[in-house]
Amino acid sequence: MDPFADTLRRLRETFRSGRTRAAEFRAAQLEGLGRFLRDNKQLLQDALAQDLHKSAFESELSEIRISQDEIKLALRNLRAWMKDEKVPKNLATQLDSAFIRKEPFGLVLIIAPWNYPVNLTLVPLVGALAAGNCVVLKPSEVSKSVEKVLAEVLPQYLDQSCFSVVLGGPEDMGKVLENKFDYIFFTGSPRVGKIVMTAAAKHLTPITLELGGKNPCYVDDNCDPQTVANRVVWFRYFNAGQTCVAPDYVLCSRETQERLLPAIQSAITRFYGDDPKGSPSLGRIIGEKQFHRLQGLLSCGRVAIGGQSDESERYIAPTVLVDVQETEPVMQEEIFGPILPIVTVRGLDEAVDFITRREKPLALYAFSNSSQVVKQVLAGTSSGGFCGNDGFMHMALSSLPFGGVGASGMGRYHGKFSFDTFSHHRACLLRPPGLEKIYSLRYPPYSPRNLRLLLMAMETRSCSCTLL
Ligand code: NAD
Repeated sequence: MDPFADTLRRLRETFRSGRTRAAEFRAAQLEGLGRFLRDNKQLLQDALAQDLHKSAFESELSEIRISQDEIKLALRNLRAWMKDEKVPKNLATQLDSAFIRKEPFGLVLIIAPWNYPVNLTLVPLVGALAAGNCVVLKPSEVSKSVEKVLAEVLPQYLDQSCFSVVLGGPEDMGKVLENKFDYIFFTGSPRVGKIVMTAAAKHLTPITLELGGKNPCYVDDNCDPQTVANRVVWFRYFNAGQTCVAPDYVLCSRETQERLLPAIQSAITRFYGDDPKGSPSLGRIIGEKQFHRLQGLLSCGRVAIGGQSDESERYIAPTVLVDVQETEPVMQEEIFGPILPIVTVRGLDEAVDFITRREKPLALYAFSNSSQVVKQVLAGTSSGGFCGNDGFMHMALSSLPFGGVGASGMGRYHGKFSFDTFSHHRACLLRPPGLEKIYSLRYPPYSPRNLRLLLMAMETRSCSCTLL
């Protein structure tokens, strides 16, 4: 007996009825989502504080506001995004109407992780609803307080005939994934991403995978160490380092490492005080399992800054490790916590070589006073996103796509990219029923003359066309 069958059947019936396709219906769902965030902002902030000791500042910036901005953008542009997109034509299709229609896929499954449990649930949801889909939302069971709000309060703001929340861990998800969905949007670890992709393959379901990995951060000798340290410290220790786009490790020369260490220490003290444990601005590790894994990583290399931990609070101090070996666990797995190893290299070429010998990361950062150096890192590497002389900021712009490449994922979203991700782009050509004389050039018996005319008619200046 499939416990999810009834829910999925109900959502499928709604989709088949066509109700979710109307712009008014889509806008009403987005407005409902906006009201949910407005009415329950404090509830969500309290839940984020309980789960992750997330400060109101970080909650507002990285969870609530980012979701609200996505809703506003989608509402402002919904009708324009939904419009059929006219495409260039050739002589052979001059009298036809050729366009791309953005259709909803149907029943979409969104699976979210725990580290930004509001943002990473609601931002994809905005795209899925704007595109006219029915949605099954699966928040993470690890961020329990937020999961409760999403399961109990959010459905009150949406049309429940097109939206449902499912709860559970890996075992329940195994059952959910036996069902056929029309699109799956997964954010989480590469390990679970492979499980989800395997399940999707059984039904030939298209999928977006937003995964993680190790994000390099190259720091050039030609830089102001204090400015670099301020920026790196802020985005490495934001959300206690539990951020998929955080810099996982720094690559720099030994001389730059020696200039960076006191600057990083100074930034940590200014941001979090002499005892960071007492700082309301510093988050905590989500759970015991994750805490013990991170505690184990503290023994890699040599602790240059921090290194303290307290299990009772799931606290790990902002830490910098030096003299780490490539073979140590801290350089083998995604860190996902407030620990920053520095790996020394002889220069730019060695740094680029170090990066390109590894899996393509979700984000890559380069710091230098020379724009040439930043551009060289950009040109010599590949990653989901890239930011020169700062961190995170490339993903705060919804006009840029957000997503991975290679092992860090496939697909993209944010802003219009979300709408496009959750829409099937249907190729349409409407031809007038008459004019058979003109169109009969292609029919047998074939002749060289007709072929020549046909090939000429199919040429376009702005697009190349194929016969089939
Ligand atoms: P996870 O892969 O353990 O879990 C993600 C989601 O998958 C959760 O909802 C979980 O319940 C579900 N899940 C677990 N087992 C499953 C199974 N067998 N079948 C189906 N679903 C299952 O990841 P996590 O620990 O929640 O998050 C951390 C990871 O997510 C890190 O690797 C991080 O880099 C990555 N991440 C990526 C992004 C991004 O946008 N690319 C954002 C945040 C986190």
